[in-house]
Amino acid sequence: MFATLFTLAMMAAPYGHQASAQNTKCPVLGTAVTGKSQVVTVHGHAYRVCCSDCAGKLEKHPGAYLKKDGTPKNAGKPVQKGSMASMPGMRP
Ligand SMILES: [Zn+2]
Repeated sequence: MFATLFTLAMMAAPYGHQASAQNTKCPVLGTAVTGKSQVVTVHGHAYRVCCSDCAGKLEKHPGAYLKKDGTPKNAGKPVQKGSMASMPGMRP
């Protein structure tokens, strides 16, 4: 009886399973990340980053890229393209 309840509890709340990163952009550069991107955990929150360089930056200076609630500061901005987008008609 107790063993069954214990097993059900373990299945309902698997111990050691961390919430996966939800962000779709690198909090550092704002470039798009995928499910295969590197994940960095800062203050209990998991974030995907575009490269190991950004992983190091996010770990060392999380306050520069994350709000106090853990939301990436660039979350509301559009995704940066990897290539330089030229803007025709914007010449000085
Ligand atoms: Zn990067």
